[in-house]
Amino acid sequence: MSKVAFVTGGAGGIGQAICKRLADAGHKVAACYIAPEKETALQWQEESKSQGYDYYLVEGDVSDFSSSQAMVQQIEKDIGPIEILVNCAGITRDTTFKKMSEDQWKGVIDINLNSVFNVTKQVIDGMLERQYGRIICISSLNGQKGQFGQSNYSASKSGMHGFAMSLAQEVASKGITVNSISPGYIGTKMVMAIPQKVLDGIVSQIPVGRLGTPDEIGAVVAFLASDDAGFITGSNIAINGGQHTQF
Ligand code: NAD
Repeated sequence: MSKVAFVTGGAGGIGQAICKRLADAGHKVAACYIAPEKETALQWQEESKSQGYDYYLVEGDVSDFSSSQAMVQQIEKDIGPIEILVNCAGITRDTTFKKMSEDQWKGVIDINLNSVFNVTKQVIDGMLERQYGRIICISSLNGQKGQFGQSNYSASKSGMHGFAMSLAQEVASKGITVNSISPGYIGTKMVMAIPQKVLDGIVSQIPVGRLGTPDEIGAVVAFLASDDAGFITGSNIAINGGQHTQF
């Protein structure tokens, strides 16, 4: 059954693969981008069209409550009520805690974590009324294990999972599941731009012996968004090539 899915950061490296997998599963997909990335996002929309993918694109800032509200209202007016939400927008502002500025801390917490409140808050009442919903938060390996130079990022990503575990319990009886996914190193354009020597060092720490692909994240999102995944809630799915294993 075709549903409306909203992927925040859908025009980004991992977001694009998520949009594609959700569209392949038959859903109507809306993606958002932040104003400075308008040109890249429109280009992606055009290229996708030529490949048979018709994405609904909306501009806004997930770190801002009113902007998140406006984006959701626009999507719901134009293509229908959102039944699948993927909180994927995210940034890094890496530096050691000793050197970290308040802006670097707040910027990451606002865009990675407060965004989850700002956007989920706009869709939860509708999901509760319709007794159906899928909420998926794109967290990170480094939210599970911590990472030198990423106290802001790791805190935001751990927070996403704390949110998912708690909201999952509140809405489980209403047909809504809430989960997180923790990708390890994924071969997005940004990661592929890392100097080869540094990249080799990263890959040497991954037992599978390679980076993950954005499509491998998209596939798991599409599964969690499906009716088959109705008994999975409050979970975190690690996708990291064996780099970090835990029970
Ligand atoms: P990316 O930079 O390619 O995409 C990020 C997207 O977020 C972009 O489309 C951007 O426009 C959007 N965005 C940023 N700030 C925004 C804002 N304020 N409002 C609305 N949209 C905003 O990054 P990516 O590598 O595709 O990462 C996607 C998600 O996956 C992020 O949450 C990231 O933390 C997580 N992640 C990535 C990796 C990896 O290896 N790439 C690993 C683990 C987790």
